[in-house]
Amino acid sequence: MSGSKSAEDVFVEIVFDVVKEVFYLLWGILSFIVSFTVKALKKSPEEKMRQTNSTAQWGQKTNQVACPQCGALIESGASRCYACGSRF
Ligand SMILES: [Zn+2]
Repeated sequence: MSGSKSAEDVFVEIVFDVVKEVFYLLWGILSFIVSFTVKALKKSPEEKMRQTNSTAQWGQKTNQVACPQCGALIESGASRCYACGSRF
């Protein structure tokens, strides 16, 4: 009786160890996914900032227009071309 009981105990211990290992493995994968997701979430605002900066730079570039007389890049709000002095 006692022999069969100890065998059951060993079996339960093995199953428990396997379950524990699987749990630790899943926990490791889960923590890895969580850390990866956190890094991705932390990265995304920086990328958004970079995109905004590039968009702002592009906006500054698009605010410049070419002078119809000489073709020099001047600000769209300017009334005169700094290169040739022609009025708009
Ligand atoms: Zn000009």
